[in-house]
Amino acid sequence: MRLDKWLNDLKICSRRESGKYIKQHRIVVNDVVMTNGKQHISPETDTITIDGEARRSYERDLYYIMHKPAGVVTATTDRMHETVIDLIADEDNRKDLFPVGRLDKDTEGLLVITNDGPLAHRLLSPKKHIEKVYYAQIDGEVTAADVKTFEEGVVINEEFTAQPAKLNVLTSGEGVSEVEITVYEGKFHQVKRMFIAVEKEVTYLKRIKMGGFDLPADLELGEYRHLTAEEMDQLE
Ligand code: URA
Repeated sequence: MRLDKWLNDLKICSRRESGKYIKQHRIVVNDVVMTNGKQHISPETDTITIDGEARRSYERDLYYIMHKPAGVVTATTDRMHETVIDLIADEDNRKDLFPVGRLDKDTEGLLVITNDGPLAHRLLSPKKHIEKVYYAQIDGEVTAADVKTFEEGVVINEEFTAQPAKLNVLTSGEGVSEVEITVYEGKFHQVKRMFIAVEKEVTYLKRIKMGGFDLPADLELGEYRHLTAEEMDQLE
């Protein structure tokens, strides 16, 4: 990660101000005085001091990617059910973690968990139109007419017409279908309600992509891992 980005993530200073810290020779990484914000550091393993004081990586914002299993709720706490935060077992400072957006209890798939409020805000902003792709199994045969309806914006009720969505029919026949659906908003039960509007029912739902980022193939159900800085960039 770039030194100036790390300084910024620590909320010590802006990228511009970080230049001043560096020029003043206040930052030392593994006993080497830093001279350029573009220099790369490894916050997890390097010994970094600012004005002689060690800075530890846990002060950084935390980013996880989780393959959410069905049966857990997308919340920070819940009196009845296990939450996605309960699944994050290896951090002792996890009190400030929260999920970015929401998947239903019975929905599986890609979920970002962080303690970075501004990032969550950016990803969830309706203005950003972050793309979300779901794989869905449907009770009912999805038709070309449904594809067109979704493309034009399916009317959910008097108050809500969904924004245009891309529907890719993988299989359709004998009363059931498999589809991939791409939506650019995240209303409550969005995908399920879109199919109800065309008289079909979602029987299984999994988020497989968010922004430019795919659910990693090697991340098993219920597993999570830290996101790398490069992966964060792909998300936004
Ligand atoms: N749409 C839904 O209906 N449910 C989800 O969990 C996500 C999108």
